[in-house]
Amino acid sequence: MTNSPISKISLEGRDFYVKRDDLIDPFLAGNKYRKLYTLLKTPSNKLSKIISYGGTQSNAMLAIAAMCKSKGWEFYYYTKPLSLTQKNFSHGNYFHSINLGMNHIEIEEAFYKNFIASLSLTIDATTFIIDQGGAVEEAKIGLEVLAEEIRGANLELRSLATPSGTGTTALFLALALPEFKVYTTPCVGDASYLKEQMQALHEIPKNLIILKSTKKHHFAKPYTEFLEIYKKLLASGIEFDLLYAPGMWEALLTQTDEEILYIHSGGVSGNESMLKRYEQKGMSIK
Ligand SMILES: *Cc1c(COP(=O)(O)O)cnc(C)c1O
Repeated sequence: MTNSPISKISLEGRDFYVKRDDLIDPFLAGNKYRKLYTLLKTPSNKLSKIISYGGTQSNAMLAIAAMCKSKGWEFYYYTKPLSLTQKNFSHGNYFHSINLGMNHIEIEEAFYKNFIASLSLTIDATTFIIDQGGAVEEAKIGLEVLAEEIRGANLELRSLATPSGTGTTALFLALALPEFKVYTTPCVGDASYLKEQMQALHEIPKNLIILKSTKKHHFAKPYTEFLEIYKKLLASGIEFDLLYAPGMWEALLTQTDEEILYIHSGGVSGNESMLKRYEQKGMSIK
């Protein structure tokens, strides 16, 4: 993979630059590509199996499935029990991951926590466990590679933006690029939860700025205002994900005014399922 390109878009009368990490691969893209970077560079014969766990709509799950397929590694993914309806979907991240060869194992709710905690006790040297949210130390190197690409682009601007779940991406990006301001916003939980998550990894640097939304949004719930932003962005030429990007763009449009490079964090593969939910709620996606 060569450097991902940078596009320019116009939104509400402002120009924005977008680092097109969404274009890296249909399934293994965005910040999940960056977070899995070290594993992707690991020779295939060094490992035989990857184990992970978490949600069944997760972008990380799909990215790991795509990586394992290309590497010839087995992939075991543990989740809480999944509804039959979701199992039978012929779209979405779960469907694609199964097609890429993912072995899915459901663990009863009552045993789930203990089971996950015990995973690391039984593995051998060719098995690697990726914790929910992405492999942390490995992610650091991938984000340093992204930082070098951004530096190398020699843009005049000094502000970046990317949305947060665990905050791993925004944090390591800010640490790797102290000469830039890095804006982020919490998409899963509130700002204090995000800070806690980040602080567990590293002290939060001064150039990392957490923007808060004026309205409380629950993760992965449909919101008219999110759909509106998604449609505007699409009309400007780029599709973004519906879970993380809308909140980030809303914060940028209302709380900043300088030139910004937005780091596309991927996740577009999950839009098909999410757009169906918007339609079911009677919100027009046209
Ligand atoms: C996983 C993900 C994020 C959140 O990344 P963190 O490093 O956990 O903060 C943001 N956007 C998209 C599209 C994602 O899939």
